[in-house]
Amino acid sequence: MADLPFHDRGDFEDADRGFIAKLSPAVIRTADGQVVWDNDSYDFLQGDCPRTAHPSLWRQSQLCTRQGLYEVTDGIYQVRGLDLSNMTLAEGERGVVVIDPLISTECAAAALKLYRAHRGDRPVTGVVYTHAHADHFGGVRGVTGGDVPILAPAGFMEHAVTENVFAGPAMIRRAVYMYGPALPRSPEGQIGAGLGMTASTGTMSLIPPTVEITRTGQEETVDGVRMIFQLTPGTEAPVEMNFLFPDRRALCLAENATHNLHNVLPLRGAAVRDARAWARYLTEAIALFADRAEVAFASHHWPTWGRERIERFLSQQRDMYTYLHDQTLRLLNKGLTGTEIAEAVHMPPELEQAWHTHGYYGSVSHNVKAIYQRYLGWFDGNPANLWPHPPRESATRYVECLGGGAAVVAFARRYIDENDLRFAVQLLNHAVFADEGNKEARDLLAEVYTRLGHGAENATWRNFYLMGAHELADGIVSTTVETPSSDFFAALTVEQIFDSIAIRVDGPRAWHERLSIDWHLTDLGERYRTTLSNGAFVQQAEPRDDSADLTLRLTKAQLVGLLSGKGVEGVEREGDTTVLQRLVAVLDRPVPDFAIVTA
Ligand SMILES: [Zn+2]
Repeated sequence: MADLPFHDRGDFEDADRGFIAKLSPAVIRTADGQVVWDNDSYDFLQGDCPRTAHPSLWRQSQLCTRQGLYEVTDGIYQVRGLDLSNMTLAEGERGVVVIDPLISTECAAAALKLYRAHRGDRPVTGVVYTHAHADHFGGVRGVTGGDVPILAPAGFMEHAVTENVFAGPAMIRRAVYMYGPALPRSPEGQIGAGLGMTASTGTMSLIPPTVEITRTGQEETVDGVRMIFQLTPGTEAPVEMNFLFPDRRALCLAENATHNLHNVLPLRGAAVRDARAWARYLTEAIALFADRAEVAFASHHWPTWGRERIERFLSQQRDMYTYLHDQTLRLLNKGLTGTEIAEAVHMPPELEQAWHTHGYYGSVSHNVKAIYQRYLGWFDGNPANLWPHPPRESATRYVECLGGGAAVVAFARRYIDENDLRFAVQLLNHAVFADEGNKEARDLLAEVYTRLGHGAENATWRNFYLMGAHELADGIVSTTVETPSSDFFAALTVEQIFDSIAIRVDGPRAWHERLSIDWHLTDLGERYRTTLSNGAFVQQAEPRDDSADLTLRLTKAQLVGLLSGKGVEGVEREGDTTVLQRLVAVLDRPVPDFAIVTA
């Protein structure tokens, strides 16, 4: 820690450069008064770093908590610190083009209002979504009703909703650990997320794009604002794009180069990203744009000014992902496993001295394991790890072998005394999983999690540890799942609607059920057959015959209605109508607040 480059204050200069005005107070509410964003609650970060935080993360949080309207360059502005992400505004001939309208409509509207207070009441004449993550489109209805061009990379809609269809409930639960919304905001508690302070909690919306960006080099002009695009699929998101404003000499890097080591695999869970593609597209971005840009900015963090500094920044980001990828492959081909590689790989000294390579959001440790996972999967090749008992079963046996719960706690204290907190939590976790009533183990585990959290440079590690401690002490935080707005249901394809039914079928309960339904989507002119056999719900487009047990004629809205329990009112049915009840009878529900640190 002693050799961290604290003398380098360049980020603070960049984060403050172009400052125009703050939102004061920085509290944003819904129409009925619920707080969805409160940046003032982070004022304590202006103080010196306490013993309860890693100095490097404290510094990053001081930077992320800066909020307000900033001029990036002539005609381009950013509102930062009013959500997890930034909203960028590029002024055109008649109005302003909004890039990435935050997570919630309330925050996006507040950001636009702040901009207008200082730049005049310009109409929003276009929107650009840099990629298909909700912190880059969810607030769109806060800035427009949708009667303007909306640009996005090809495949945007599919990816914007896919995450919510499949592993959504589990990701939402794990995101509570990743961002720590249930933690107090204090020097001991939540001090940010590395990428920004946290996610806002207002109304999420989605308006489908009207202009697809399908190739690198594509040029579009919206309200006189010229943009030249570079597609970067498979980087930070499955579809994403960088773009240059050639007339402003400004480069938007979406979320491909931000002021941290980003996630190859976020701790909340996701499909593994491709570190190699990520690095290659950064190389391409340098070649395409670096000599035409005087400022580079992204949809998180603060911009970088000056051609040389931009090129150095992008090259270092590129080297960082390349290094992690190639070193992981080098070492796995020598037989090292993910956990071993995570210990063996260290950032090269030059990168270590650049603040923007530090793991505030991603980390060397978990990214290396993600790269291993991408190539070799969960299994490390050792047959001892091929068929282990699940956590509670193995915990019971470990505790038995070690002489019981009290003995395990005594062992754990020994490792804590030697400052081996990592092994202490493994021991204590066994003790808790073997016997949740072991209060001593529980309290001690919470204490060690807290110490690990306070020592973490990575904000998401800190939040995970502190949430673990919090739930051990106070029980499970119930996850308030925002009901997806009708925008999201409307965005689902029929195929995705059937997919979302398929993953709710309780297999064993459906083993002996056999049924088929034809769905005629009258408004779309599409026909599907779904069959249930052997617990598998299978869909097929355009069935050739009409041998299904039941045929339903309905609109997509009625199909969505059926899903949300609205019943079959108004749906034309032909055949065996009990089939629908039999299907509903085998559907299961996700558990939104499952246990994580207890069995
Ligand atoms: Zn983002």
